[in-house]
Amino acid sequence: MRTFISLSVALLLVLLAVFIYQSQPPSVDPAFDSAERIQKVTGTLNGDRIRQADSEPQNWLAHGRTYDESRFSPLSQINTTNVNQLGLAWSYDLNSSRGLEATPIVVDGIMFSTAAWSIVYAHDARNGKLIWKYDPKVPKAWGAKACCDAVNRGAALWEGRVYVGTLDGYLVALDAGTGKELWKVNTIDRDKPYTITGAPRIVKGKVIIGNGGAEYGVRGYVTAYDANTGKQAWRFYTVPGNPADGFESDAMAKAAKTWSGEWWKYGGGGTAWDSMAYDPELDLLYVGTGNGSVWNQSVRSPEGGDNLYLSSIVALKPDTGEYVWHYQTTPGDSWDYTATQHMILADLNIDGTKRKVLMQAPKNGFFYVIDRTNGQFISANNYVPVTWATHVDPETGRPVETANARYQAPNPLATLSPEQLVAVLKPMPPKDLEGAFHKPSPFGGHNWQPMSYNPQTGLVYIPALDIPYAYGNEPAFEYQDGRWNIAINWQLNAPTGDAELDAVIAGTVRGHIAAWDPVAQKEVWRVQHAGSWNGGILSTAGNLIFQGTSHGQFAAYNAETGEQLWTTEAQTGVVAPPITYSIDGEQYITVVAGWGGVFALAAGEAASNIGQKHRGRILTYKIGGQATLPPLEDDTTLPELPESTASAEQILQGKITYHRYCGVCHGPGVNGGGVIPDLRFMGEAKHNIFNDIVLGGALKDAGMVSFADVISEDDAHNIQAYIIAEGKRLRALRAE
Ligand code: CA
Repeated sequence: MRTFISLSVALLLVLLAVFIYQSQPPSVDPAFDSAERIQKVTGTLNGDRIRQADSEPQNWLAHGRTYDESRFSPLSQINTTNVNQLGLAWSYDLNSSRGLEATPIVVDGIMFSTAAWSIVYAHDARNGKLIWKYDPKVPKAWGAKACCDAVNRGAALWEGRVYVGTLDGYLVALDAGTGKELWKVNTIDRDKPYTITGAPRIVKGKVIIGNGGAEYGVRGYVTAYDANTGKQAWRFYTVPGNPADGFESDAMAKAAKTWSGEWWKYGGGGTAWDSMAYDPELDLLYVGTGNGSVWNQSVRSPEGGDNLYLSSIVALKPDTGEYVWHYQTTPGDSWDYTATQHMILADLNIDGTKRKVLMQAPKNGFFYVIDRTNGQFISANNYVPVTWATHVDPETGRPVETANARYQAPNPLATLSPEQLVAVLKPMPPKDLEGAFHKPSPFGGHNWQPMSYNPQTGLVYIPALDIPYAYGNEPAFEYQDGRWNIAINWQLNAPTGDAELDAVIAGTVRGHIAAWDPVAQKEVWRVQHAGSWNGGILSTAGNLIFQGTSHGQFAAYNAETGEQLWTTEAQTGVVAPPITYSIDGEQYITVVAGWGGVFALAAGEAASNIGQKHRGRILTYKIGGQATLPPLEDDTTLPELPESTASAEQILQGKITYHRYCGVCHGPGVNGGGVIPDLRFMGEAKHNIFNDIVLGGALKDAGMVSFADVISEDDAHNIQAYIIAEGKRLRALRAE
């Protein structure tokens, strides 16, 4: 009886349970990639979560992963013992022919990345499935206002929204779940050649963004916008405007005392196009500022002066944009030595004292450690060969310039005929050419490619560049509004026309990973690369660093020794920095792979001879990944060239005009660096409409605007003759 009652009760409970279960709607988790779930996982992403990013190491929440921008991940499942088992997990073809420099953001398995022309993608980070794509439809003609390719370095995430700055100067907020545009604000004077290529940073509910354009004659600034509404909160100019208009702040009045002449007519420059960092305890926002506009200080500010706040690290209050302190790396910049390079915040033990430092390897070739509480200089040493300064004086924190640092003396290359040039340059290193070449070049000892600081090894990994450059004044420089204006004779760096010699010169253009001890200020080891302009760097608690190269490899190295432990074919030059994340306990490594940027455009043979065509993809790897890339196609057939009857003098004139207006995008040697169309491959059909393109703007929607305001019909004819001559030279080389 007792058993019977128990059984009855049990049966009743079971029936009741079934009844309750059936009367409830089935509880189904929203799909992994649904707008609802993405809103949920990104909706709480704010400053607190970024500050505590180490408590969610599976995610990559902000541009440098953390506000200190160290680009070090605590993930260690992939480590020195198993990294050789990495394989491709998935790839996503971006169908892009232009440079890719983005750092993706990953939140709970959803990846947000950007590509050329400021296009934003959301992917399922497990398998690369596209969730949504947002194209701001930047007019391709705006590309002619971008010094350094149509690149974008990434989006920012905040409380369920994705933020991106567009090449044509807008800041846009998107719904993270759907990619729908929520608001869009104009950040620029639309009559001026400003661009945005950097990733926004978000601090205390304000989206902060700077601009590019200092090669074209603009005034730099950073602006903060309310993350909810897009309303402008503050703007900090990096250089003073025309004193007659009054100064915006005491910081500008102070800065104006360090300029001379009528600098505002050239814009002044100082554009903050990439680096920022934030210290939540000190509540200071650090901004890296760019070069002078025009580059050549003797034109821009003829009486000299420091030209504040060019090439500086500026500390601002993030609530108001108020100036707190600055440290200038290159006073009176005259070389395009920007301080827009990546900054890393860390606490280092220096002479027995724990110091809150900021570390930067700006273009000028010196690695700086400064006190980030007050901007005081701690130490500096050159991390690549430097010819413009002997050292940084520890008393003053200022560089000590060498005798002809500012290329006052005429560059000996400028007066040589093509034949003489070959004769004197052929012995390498060139003889009797004191002062012809400087290091670093305008590409810098280090450019925008992010470094990484690994607190376990105490090392900063610098994607370093070692490139010579011939600086010289541009004869009869005339400022042209909205055009490429540097007042430097770019033609000094054109190919000589002697194939053997040009190959030797291209071979002096190099790059490496420098593992740098920031306390001892010295290189501990290096990985020498075959070419220059390699990728940004990630370091991990797996005692690894990851980097892609211009030669199309993606590789992992031991973080302590630099020993290469794994490498794979990326099928494209890689410049962007990798990131890492994990989903359901499985770690992934991702890089947005694609060749491009300023070096690919402007370095000519040194870039194009690498032979890495642009094949833009997101590449993601995991242990045991089995995916593959499609086989490479052959695309190197040379079309027929039209006949040219131009004289040697016309070809030379064409070469000079080409390097004044065209070389910055199409490269010395007209080869486009594997990004912009290689003009040596231009067939008769395009040659037949050459003037329509160059003067008439027939291809403006492809990014090639009209140059009729600065180039005459005779000039165009001569440029075309130079292009045909270069095309013939390539064909002769191929025939050998
Ligand atoms: Ca620049």
